[in-house]
Amino acid sequence: MPVTLEELGWDASRPLPADGTVARIVAEHRGAYHAAGVGGVAWAEATGRAFLAATRDKRELPTVGDWVVLDRWTEALGGTGAAVIREILPRASLLVRRAAGEASLPQPLAANVDIGLVMTSANGDLSPARLDRYLTLLADSQIPAAIVLSKIDLVGEPGPVVELLATLAPNVPILPFSTVSGAGLAELRALVPPRRTAVLLGSSGVGKSSLLNALVATAGLPTRPIDDNDRGRHTTTRREMFVADDGSLWIDTPGMRELARWARDDKPDEDEEDAFDDIAAIAAKCRFRDCNHDGEPGCAVTEAVAAGELEAIRLVSFHKLGQEHQVAVADQKTARRIAETRQAKAKRYAPRPGKPDDER
Ligand code: GDP
Ligand code: ZN
Repeated sequence: MPVTLEELGWDASRPLPADGTVARIVAEHRGAYHAAGVGGVAWAEATGRAFLAATRDKRELPTVGDWVVLDRWTEALGGTGAAVIREILPRASLLVRRAAGEASLPQPLAANVDIGLVMTSANGDLSPARLDRYLTLLADSQIPAAIVLSKIDLVGEPGPVVELLATLAPNVPILPFSTVSGAGLAELRALVPPRRTAVLLGSSGVGKSSLLNALVATAGLPTRPIDDNDRGRHTTTRREMFVADDGSLWIDTPGMRELARWARDDKPDEDEEDAFDDIAAIAAKCRFRDCNHDGEPGCAVTEAVAAGELEAIRLVSFHKLGQEHQVAVADQKTARRIAETRQAKAKRYAPRPGKPDDER
């Protein structure tokens, strides 16, 4: 359990405000926060004015990692109500995503982050587009990035994946590790010194919770001491900060689910479309334009699987990705475009019987 602001990452040379209590936001719930400061962790709430301002700009509300000035801290620590967040102190960095139709409203994901760790698993399908998106997100927020390659115990030799990652992201450090074998964990810890804040980015299932569990095996979690049965931490918590055994600070983010809208609106995801262009090409023949290829009548994709023309595993990974993104990766428009390109290509290259070669 941290007891000083320095243990929560506060720079000791930074002057404290004359009045009010400084604390760090360590968890974000629906409309309320956990703040950690001298004395412990307590509920904190933004003012009505901040909520109002946030309708114009979401950065007006605190996010996990923020340093805030609070009123009523002692009372909140004592369990009588929530502390009031009077002010958000200037942010050293702010990780944001830009959501659909709200191009002018960047949505904060984490504040005062020193390094962003993009996690991808050694045994999973590597999506260059997704990797690029996370790295772009960090670069846009001017946060240094590293790639952490999880579950290397599941592959014989991580070398080839590391090499592939190195070609995809030439200037980003890559760190292979496994929470099962323990390989690479020491190096990973060394990436985030004590009192520095890291944010973990990666699709769900990639191993973020397992890593956090390994890092905080014995240390207190700042968000745990609060008795919040009735507020259902697990159902409402969106982001949390953890203090690792070695004193480094870690912010977990939800997986692609939350980032999906940002990703989709930013630009069409060429790489991922290409990754499923086999499905997209077939999907152009589905009866319904918005077919999910999930049991709809007249679905050409499921028919192709049944006919043995498309491997079932392709459709499974398509659905998996689709769920994560909450978007149909190869939507019908794209599918049609790809199908048309394919047909055009096929026309161009297919030998046409009865015509001399040079007329092709
Ligand atoms: P998260 O969704 O990113 O938090 O992923 P989890 O930490 O929940 O991990 C997803 C699955 O991968 C779980 O079944 C874990 O047991 C497994 N897993 C996580 N890390 C490793 C690892 O290093 N090696 C192996 N073999 N499995 C892992
Ligand atoms: Zn279909």
